[in-house]
Amino acid sequence: VSTKLVVGNWKMNGSLAGNAELLGEVTKSAGLGCEVAVCAPFPYLMQVLQILPPRSGIALGAQNVSEFDDGAYTGEVSARMLSDLGCSYVIVGHSERRSLFHEDDGTVGRKTRAALRAGLLPIVCVGETSAERNDGITLEVVTRQLDAVAAEIDGLDVDQIVLAYEPIWAIGSGLTATAEQVGEVHASIRTWTQRVFGSEVTTKILYGGSVKPGNAAELFAVPNVDGGLIGGASLVARDFLAICHAA
Ligand code: 13P
Repeated sequence: VSTKLVVGNWKMNGSLAGNAELLGEVTKSAGLGCEVAVCAPFPYLMQVLQILPPRSGIALGAQNVSEFDDGAYTGEVSARMLSDLGCSYVIVGHSERRSLFHEDDGTVGRKTRAALRAGLLPIVCVGETSAERNDGITLEVVTRQLDAVAAEIDGLDVDQIVLAYEPIWAIGSGLTATAEQVGEVHASIRTWTQRVFGSEVTTKILYGGSVKPGNAAELFAVPNVDGGLIGGASLVARDFLAICHAA
């Protein structure tokens, strides 16, 4: 069994003072017992990098990246810049970006490609709405989202990809998918990675959506769950640490 990966997605939260306090608490705890990354807003990436002790074992990630390499794209941030700065990870295709900022499957695929080309580890998010779940098309939706990514990354190093299953109805809602629901989707994603990436590639598949200290251990015990993508609870040091320790 490989080490689990716990990623904090701060979303659009934080401040210089608040980040320093949060990271101070998190790094005080010795030996997190799993791989850990924090995905901070762009303006704070350098600060987080400077606060994290080199041997903290905590990696840095961004929450979004441009699909373009460089040039006249006002307001965009390229994968090369993130890599230059010292980011290891970047979240791609989070449901909030898909729904609020109109990123479609193709955009998510091209962003994944841009990240891989710059040597970043993309954390590619997939997941269904509650309507799609009620219609019984969860696995089809997730497969469509994954196929769109596969279509854009020919010839690139798929070993670097991390996948995250985040049922949209479970994000920030306090509703968590049941172990059975998570297990079904993760098994289907595993089958997909083995078919498309090859069975020798061990892709990490994270679960995200209202992971809290009280449910983390149960979720992390589900087969094919290789860690978590944590929103709200990653903003509270005590909760984030408890989740890391459950991994
Ligand atoms: P919550 O943990 O706040 O539900 O957010 C999950 C998420 O979207 C992580 O990317």
